[in-house]
Amino acid sequence: MSEGDTVIVVVAAGSSARFGEDKLAVSLCGRTVLEHALASVRAPLPDAPVCLVVRADHVEAARARWQAEGVRVVAGGSHRQDSVRLGVEALAPADDAVVLIHDGARPFVPAEDVLRVADAARHHGAALLVAPIVDTIKRLRVDETVDATVPRERLVRALTPQAFCARVLREAWAHASDEHWTDEAALIERQGGEVKAVAGDARNVKVTHSSDLAIASGVLGRPPRVGHGIDVHAFAPGRVLWLCGVKLPSEAGLAGHSDADAALHAVTDAILGACGAGDIGEHFPSSDARWQDAPSEGFVRHALALAAERGLRIVNCDLSLLLEKPRIGPHREAMCARLAEILGLPPGQVNVKATTCEGLGFIGRGEGVMAQAVVMLEQV
Ligand code: MG
Repeated sequence: MSEGDTVIVVVAAGSSARFGEDKLAVSLCGRTVLEHALASVRAPLPDAPVCLVVRADHVEAARARWQAEGVRVVAGGSHRQDSVRLGVEALAPADDAVVLIHDGARPFVPAEDVLRVADAARHHGAALLVAPIVDTIKRLRVDETVDATVPRERLVRALTPQAFCARVLREAWAHASDEHWTDEAALIERQGGEVKAVAGDARNVKVTHSSDLAIASGVLGRPPRVGHGIDVHAFAPGRVLWLCGVKLPSEAGLAGHSDADAALHAVTDAILGACGAGDIGEHFPSSDARWQDAPSEGFVRHALALAAERGLRIVNCDLSLLLEKPRIGPHREAMCARLAEILGLPPGQVNVKATTCEGLGFIGRGEGVMAQAVVMLEQV
């Protein structure tokens, strides 16, 4: 199959009435539901023209988000069927092209399902993905008592994408009266046309209720990565004491090549650890004059950039400081805020705590500071 003969319409013009907020903008494993939907339907056909149909009041924002990724954005109509048609018209596919119509609220569809339903449409004119119904189906009376058990052998759930030869769609629209149809497959069935059912992945769920997000995140979620960092610096008279990028009042600072901010060094090592990218000494050797008295936030930012290159983004950071003095309590809030700022995290995702060592060991004798950091990175 040549992907040049396929176009994709993603419909996202609904009101989310059953969800309570804009369900397509809800974050799911680092991306919105709509971002997942577009990415998954485009994955096997990266060069296929794509049109995203959104509510008229979302057009501007959607264009700002999507145009650079080669997605055309148009305003939808008052019903789903109008939106589909506007999207297809915007792409103006040739009569023998295949049109894939995907629901923006379906964040997961396997690449092979997209290709198989497109292929079925090429051979049969119209096709849709379906999944079996596993639950026993009951029909209820209006008083919510059971009227009957419905045989489910021939029943399936309709998924998307649905796929049609553009000519078949256009003929169906030309013969449609002022009726409403649930989807384009339903219109063609009603007109006596044949729609081929293609078995699809049952995990291709439509996010309709907020509980569906839990199912979708189970499919899309990739395990987070955890990193741990530890650093020790000796006190040195005549130096400024930096911890978490905050200058603290102290008789002595810390010895070291850079500004010797042990807290930020531990955080840097934790991020590098979560990335599987070695340690701070490899990236910033103390033999390099560039780091002489350098602010350590540069090390953290470098580690975050390495994480981003690997598709990883920091979620939270927990930092423990072990030292006898100065007391951290009065500065804790400022240190938390500064660390959150450096990490690009909301303040609630960063925690700084401190303990003394009860006079024991080198920390107890006030000879130095130890910092330990734990971070979690999510795959985006
Ligand atoms: Mg260090």
